[in-house]
Amino acid sequence: MDCVFCKIVSGELPVNKEFEDDDIVVFKSNRPETPVHLLVVPKRHIESLKVAEDDDVQVLGKIQLMAKRMAEKFEIVGGYKVMVNAGKFQEVPHIHYHLKGGMN
Ligand SMILES: [Zn+2]
Repeated sequence: MDCVFCKIVSGELPVNKEFEDDDIVVFKSNRPETPVHLLVVPKRHIESLKVAEDDDVQVLGKIQLMAKRMAEKFEIVGGYKVMVNAGKFQEVPHIHYHLKGGMN
């Protein structure tokens, strides 16, 4: 599978991981748009929110709580954004949530 996020999950493509467990990996965006810009990614390849199903509910919920924990870790609880892009706005075809903060 030629998926850049699957390669990060497998370790084939090394990045500094901010968090990792059996289901999720968190790392910094390589093209940050805000002072804090993390990507929260499920390890299992789900192409997009457009194709997410009932079986994905647990990991998608876990991602939201992980975004909250990362906002606490990076001290941006005063204001942050959690975003998921789909369709023409999605650049990597492996679902991922952006956590952005630290801007005024
Ligand atoms: Zn993938």
